[in-house]
Amino acid sequence: MNIILFGPPGAGKGTQADILVKFYELHKVSTGDLLRDEIKNNTDVGNKIKLLMDRGELVPDDIINNLITKILSKKKFDNRLIFDGYPRNLNQAKKLDLLLKEYKQRISSVFSLEVNRESIIKRVIGRQICSSCGLIFNKYYRPAISKNHTCDPKYLNKRSDDNESTIINRFETWSDKTLPILNYYKQQNLLHQINGMGEINEIFEKIHVIIASLEA
Ligand SMILES: [Zn+2]
Repeated sequence: MNIILFGPPGAGKGTQADILVKFYELHKVSTGDLLRDEIKNNTDVGNKIKLLMDRGELVPDDIINNLITKILSKKKFDNRLIFDGYPRNLNQAKKLDLLLKEYKQRISSVFSLEVNRESIIKRVIGRQICSSCGLIFNKYYRPAISKNHTCDPKYLNKRSDDNESTIINRFETWSDKTLPILNYYKQQNLLHQINGMGEINEIFEKIHVIIASLEA
């Protein structure tokens, strides 16, 4: 089983990816991680990538495709991949199909976590971290009360870069870029749109039910 997970920033995609990795013993493929690994390992490609990133330029698709091919060629990852934050554009999506075919694999299912703009804003802006005990709360969804938190409320801090316009921008850029890719998978009947507004376990359960129905 190879799956792709999409979700706007702040939708809890990373959390779901981690749960799916554990539950189904998948290998997570994130292009961000792949690029960082190349840089860390000081490879020729890594140096090229670093140069591009330092200049604020995008890493071209052919570099990404090569890194993906490297993963696909590894027997231990055969049919056990979860793509997180990739493909990022239609070209990458089409190329991925071709590469998978070469390795006699395919995408089993694509999940898109659907979260509306307002709740994303609340999720990110409402996030509070206790600087004393490290617990994380949300002013709107999971407020700190005497039952779940014993520290003084003065320790509750919000992340400073979480301002509203940054979040709206990030969300809209994401939506614009991702819509064509989602349509591409929709046409192939692979797309499952999951309501991402619930609890972490509820969302996982929905994905789990769909995967179970595919394997039946
Ligand atoms: Zn605390």
